[in-house]
Amino acid sequence: MEIRVGNLEFQYGSGSGFRLLIPEFQLSEGSQTAILGPSGSGKSTLLNLIAGILVPNAGTIHAGDRAIHELPATDRRRFRLRNVGYLFQDFALLDYLDARENVLLPYRLYGEGHPTREDRQRAVELMESVGIGHLQRRPVTRLSRGEQQRVALCRSLVTEPGLLLADEPTGNLDPVAKQDAIMLLREGARKRGATLLVVTHDHNLVHDFDKVHDMDEMSAGAGR
Ligand code: ADP
Ligand code: MG
Repeated sequence: MEIRVGNLEFQYGSGSGFRLLIPEFQLSEGSQTAILGPSGSGKSTLLNLIAGILVPNAGTIHAGDRAIHELPATDRRRFRLRNVGYLFQDFALLDYLDARENVLLPYRLYGEGHPTREDRQRAVELMESVGIGHLQRRPVTRLSRGEQQRVALCRSLVTEPGLLLADEPTGNLDPVAKQDAIMLLREGARKRGATLLVVTHDHNLVHDFDKVHDMDEMSAGAGR
């Protein structure tokens, strides 16, 4: 999926001092892009705008031929569930579900019933492909951080999204596990032809991406 952002402006309510301004930003179909920026620079905000969770105050966000910024809330939600895989900072797993049910969580959010047999099969294959096939029924509270990260990765891929957004996807992993996690993420995106956008403050994670942007350069003119 191709993403095009133009003259984007966003503020959290009027009392907030933070203002995101991005004149122009693009992700070409199937590309792998990383954005580097320190904490508080607006990385998560930008991902939430592209995912259609937040709505810009001005400017445009196109995903393929869809104008995300113009969609009503229900259509934005549908766009997100069908087209966007989101790998959250700190993984956002649900403690009361086992590993496989966490992977299948996006289907619960569709509100269209339960995952099909094919969906379940795909979840199992994904888990096997990243070495956690034997942990399917394990409560996520009894998994290591690295295993939890893989559960979150499988969840972000299970619906075969055209766009994969990853927010500090390696939080709290040791350096070796971080490199593994990034490798699996990139391979997962590449195998499926998904466009990948990773945001992070960690310079060590972004080698070999097609493009690496700096949050500061992207938001030139923001006056921060
Ligand atoms: P990053 O992900 O780069 O650390 P964020 O996008 O989370 O940065 O946050 C950018 C700025 O917006 C920060 O100053 C943060 O405090 C502020 N912010 C984030 N979320 C909210 C919110 N829901 N309401 C008000 N301000 C927020
Ligand atoms: Mg953040």
